[in-house]
Amino acid sequence: MRAELEYRQIVEPTLLEKSRSGRRGYTLPAMDVETSPLESFVPASLLRSEPPALPELSENEVVRHFVRLSILNHHVDKGFYPLGSCTMKYNPKVNEQAAALPGFLTLHPLTPARLVQGALQLMYELQQALAEITGLPGVSLQPAAGAHGELTGILMFRAYHRDRGEGHRNVILIPDSAHGTNPATAALSGFRVVSVLSNEFGRVDLEDLRQKLDENVAGMMLTNPNTAGIFEREVYQIQQLLHEKGALFYMDGANLNALVGQAKPAAFGVDCIHINLHKTFSTPHGGGGPGSGPVCVRAELEPYLPVPRIEQTSEGMYQFNWDYPKSIGKIHSFWGNFGMMVRAYAYITLMGNEGLKEISRGAVLNANYLFAKLRHLFQVPFAEQPMHEFVISGSNLKSYGVKTLDVAKRLLDFGFHAPTIYFPLIVPEAMLVEPTESETAETLEAFAQAMEQIVHEAQQEPEKLKNAPYTTPVRRLNEGLASRKLIVQQ
Ligand SMILES: *Cc1c(COP(=O)(O)O)cnc(C)c1O
Repeated sequence: MRAELEYRQIVEPTLLEKSRSGRRGYTLPAMDVETSPLESFVPASLLRSEPPALPELSENEVVRHFVRLSILNHHVDKGFYPLGSCTMKYNPKVNEQAAALPGFLTLHPLTPARLVQGALQLMYELQQALAEITGLPGVSLQPAAGAHGELTGILMFRAYHRDRGEGHRNVILIPDSAHGTNPATAALSGFRVVSVLSNEFGRVDLEDLRQKLDENVAGMMLTNPNTAGIFEREVYQIQQLLHEKGALFYMDGANLNALVGQAKPAAFGVDCIHINLHKTFSTPHGGGGPGSGPVCVRAELEPYLPVPRIEQTSEGMYQFNWDYPKSIGKIHSFWGNFGMMVRAYAYITLMGNEGLKEISRGAVLNANYLFAKLRHLFQVPFAEQPMHEFVISGSNLKSYGVKTLDVAKRLLDFGFHAPTIYFPLIVPEAMLVEPTESETAETLEAFAQAMEQIVHEAQQEPEKLKNAPYTTPVRRLNEGLASRKLIVQQ
């Protein structure tokens, strides 16, 4: 019951509780023309006999209600959100305006292609931009999320091998530091997952890879920089080993914040990559709303891309082409999540080549700046210089009875969202910190100071951390119970 009780500490009454009979947002003048009675449109048996019990409030109260609700939870427009791997960057509001243009917003997906040439042009040019960024020519915008892009890519690997009479390849190699969606994707696509060990530097152990790489391997999924924020320097060797054995190389590019504008995954020998538009390319996320995880592939894999593909005719018209017999088929209703494509297109166009380079420079600089501020406070599992994010471990606080979870909870009292915790799995008491490029030096300073104070508290008054947070609308939840008995309504 604890989760439920604590949840009810929220002091915000519902709109119905605030309702008072007769209050109105606005009133329309009385009708001064003849109107037909409702009964002439709707059968009397279907009409209500009493008005519905809607809350009655002034506009002022409604606005305040929703503004208050909007800040109960933490979000990126409210404060720093260094959730590693997730790229919780500030997303320019001009992209929201572009996505809300009526011509885009109200498009019906069944409108014939000849009437939506502007929308198709946007999709086509976004594909071209992503092909340029990754160096991989074949693009599909259909996948609705990172995990969905992975599924698309690995199904294409399966189709490729079957097409070549090598359907016996039933293994996907995945490093033990990988994001959980990677093994889930491989298993869902019918493959057996074999885990590859990381070495003491937090990178793929090449010796272990060699041992596990045989004729049954269909491919390997690798995140680079990996989920410890470390660049896999042997990436070129890794792809050579894979390709020598006839296996394919999948890169998890969910988070492209370290690479965009600097290095093209095609140059590492990548055969297929997915990119989360809702991480690097400016669709706000975190609430589980719509996302977009396009895949980009090398020419040899293009025949297997999902259909329909958007193409340009010799007359310069845009059209859907379904005529790809080797395609893995359709993997999303209609054409994918169009609103995310508009935001990404607006963002990429606004940034331009130089701007895209600035993103990755800023992201790596901010991460290294913050790392330098925090490394003496915690244990540092890997000596490597991090890229756009870094891992520190709270193991050094164990002697005070304090866990990483307590640090994360206490951070909320300072108005910061916690970093990703207990991931990557290979680091005990891990914190994965990703500041992103959109934060100022002052914010990074303030976060480092909060961390310093928390470590001080851990040493001096650990009980304080055990009971944090104190200033949030709800105190510490019983997470086990909360996930089994979720209450999302008041
Ligand atoms: C976020 C992320 C994913 C999954 O993306 P979703 O859109 O949440 O499905 C996969 N891999 C990595 C490395 C990620 O950071």
